[in-house]
This record gives sequence, structure tokens and C-alpha cells, in this order.
Amino acid sequence: MGHSSFHPTPRTLMGPGPSDVHPRVLAAMAQPTIGHLDPQFISLMDDLKALLRHAFQTENPLTLPLSAPGSAGMEAAFANLIEPGDKVVVCINGVFGMRMAENVRRMGGELVTVEDEWGTPVDPQKLSDALAAHADAKVVAFVHAETSTGVCSDVAALCGIARQAGCLTIVDAVTALGGIELRVDEWQADVVYSGTQKCLSCPPGISLITFSPAAAEHIKARNTAVQSWFLDLSLLMGYWQGEGARAYHHTAPVNAMYGLHEALLMLYEEGLESAWQRHRNMHELLAVGVQELGLEFVVDSGCRLPQLNVVAAPEGTDEAQVRRKLLADFNLEIGAGLGVFAGKVWRIGLMGYAARRENVQLCVSALRESL
Ligand SMILES: *Cc1c(COP(=O)(O)O)cnc(C)c1O
Repeated sequence: MGHSSFHPTPRTLMGPGPSDVHPRVLAAMAQPTIGHLDPQFISLMDDLKALLRHAFQTENPLTLPLSAPGSAGMEAAFANLIEPGDKVVVCINGVFGMRMAENVRRMGGELVTVEDEWGTPVDPQKLSDALAAHADAKVVAFVHAETSTGVCSDVAALCGIARQAGCLTIVDAVTALGGIELRVDEWQADVVYSGTQKCLSCPPGISLITFSPAAAEHIKARNTAVQSWFLDLSLLMGYWQGEGARAYHHTAPVNAMYGLHEALLMLYEEGLESAWQRHRNMHELLAVGVQELGLEFVVDSGCRLPQLNVVAAPEGTDEAQVRRKLLADFNLEIGAGLGVFAGKVWRIGLMGYAARRENVQLCVSALRESL
């Protein structure tokens, strides 16, 4: 009935994710599928965990990929750390903070929110005040790189405040990892998760998560079972860590793991500092172009994410029309605004393999023709 193979027109992906995938990653994923308990795959898993520890800058033994997208990393963090009735402080300055709050509600936690305006970072003073008012809080959660607003919050400061109040921390680093400085051990963050589709030059579908020894102890001491069977860390570790005797838990998406491995290897080869610098350099190049077009960034330069640029659409411009034109005429995808920014801004991603000079030039010249 007229069915045929699917062959998408290639696009340049400069939105909030997925971002451009490196050809090396795509090639790695096209290799033959092997069994998920094949000794070759098990050695790939071990190397993957070591590369993940490097990317996160951590020695945490509990560092692993999860077979589902970034949102599953978020859910795993809350599902494992929180028991019904636990008081959890969630800092909200955009969409992903709101989702964290929703996770706490659904896990039966007692939610306390600390809210900051969209387009501004999480205010450490507000967190201090909230923790002073809620001495029984057990966990503090916030987003490092808020993809909905293009804002970076101060992980080291927020984790320091939480630790002083005796709280464990959950940090969303989905858009941060590989794009900006992130040092899990040095900053003493407890549970940090990320994903493949933002700054790792890898397709969507996998999340990455690490647990500090303190978080691991906390999970071991739970009184209730983790609500999610699939994301229960103790079961997952039997699969990812069971030395010599790996227990079947689920079937890992084998080819997706090849891709993740290649992406992490490329990050290792480039060097973390170089990758962070590349994102910053491309952001600065974009800033020159944006200025030449007479456009303005929405976020203050002090807390702006280099990998996610929120640019105000000029007054009277139909921003959706411009995005449609970029896609139709230039095969270029940029993102729309969310929440309070809907209809008012574009979100231009310079993430992973998309953080390259030719992408910046394409984006600036395509915008020039489309405005
Ligand atoms: C993209 C994103 C997520 C969710 O990741 P998915 O892969 O879409 O599930 C979570 N947090 C932040 C900050 C993100 O940017």
C-alpha cells in the first residue's frame, strides 16, 4: 500500500535538542548487534562506565547509563533517593525545575519550592532561607543548565549550602555535560544525571547517572522499596556491576550503547576543558552575528549558557514563521520559547557537534535572510 523506507532530509540541529550527531557516533551505531551478555559487550559496558566517570569528573563507583532518555535519569534520581513523606526542596527557574517538582509530588515526597524568575539563576540565598525554615528537609534538587531559559546556576555554591543543612543534592546536568564546566566530586554533588542528545553529539535515548557514596548509603538504608522496578538502582547495578555474574535485568539497547561509547570517547580525546572552551568560543562567535543582526540575548552574560542561546525575536516578528522558513529553506532547526518565553524568543543550541564555526555561520546568514 505505498509503503517505503524512511529517508529523512538531513537537518542542521541547532535547537534545544536533539543536537547534531557526529558521523563517528552514527557509524559506531551501525555496527553489528551482539548479545547484551556477550563478553565483548560486557567489556564495552566497563569501558563506558570509566568514560562516564571521566565525563562527570567523579570517582563514584555507582556511575552508569540508563536505557531511556534524560527524563529517565531525572526519574531515577528522585525514585531512588526519596521515600514517601520525605521533605524535598526543589529550586525552580524554568521548565525542568517544574518537572523535578512534579517528580517529588508523584513519589509522595513533601515538596518545598524555591522559585526564581525565568531567565535568572537559582538564588543561593533563597535556598539558604528555605533550608533554615525547613530544617527537616532531606534532599535539595536543582537544574545546572536550564534549557528552557538558557541559564546556568552555581552548582558548587548550591551543593555547599545543601550539604551544610545535611541534605543530599540532585543535580540535572542534561544540557550541562560536555558543554560547560561540571566537576561532580570537587563540587560534592550527590546525584547527577545527564543525557546523550544535548552536548555529547549523540542521538537521544540514553541517560547517564552517578551517585555519591553518601547517596548510595542513603539508598541502601531505605525503608520502602523503590516504586519503579525498571529504575531501581539496586537491581540495575546487578546488571551493570555484577562482577563476573551479571544478572539479566533488561536488554540494553546495544547499538545505542555503541554510540554513547563513541561519543564519550570523542569527548575524552578532545579533553573536557577543550570541549567547554569550544562551546564558549562558538557562543562568542554567535554573539557577534546576533549583534550584527540587531538582535539581543535575553539572559545576562554572567549566567548565560554558551550552548543554549535565548535570543529575543524583534517586536512584531512572527517567530514561528521565521523558524518554519529556516527549516524549509535552510534545513536548519532552531528552538521556540517555552512558558513565559513562548512566542517571544528563539532558542539557538550550540551543543556538541553543532558547536562548530560552520553551524554558527549558517545560522547567522539564514536568520539574516529570513528576518
Ligand atoms: C532535555 C532535558 C531533559 C530531558 O531529557 P530527554 O532526553 O528529553 O528526556 C531534562 N533536563 C534538562 C535540563 C534538559 O534539557
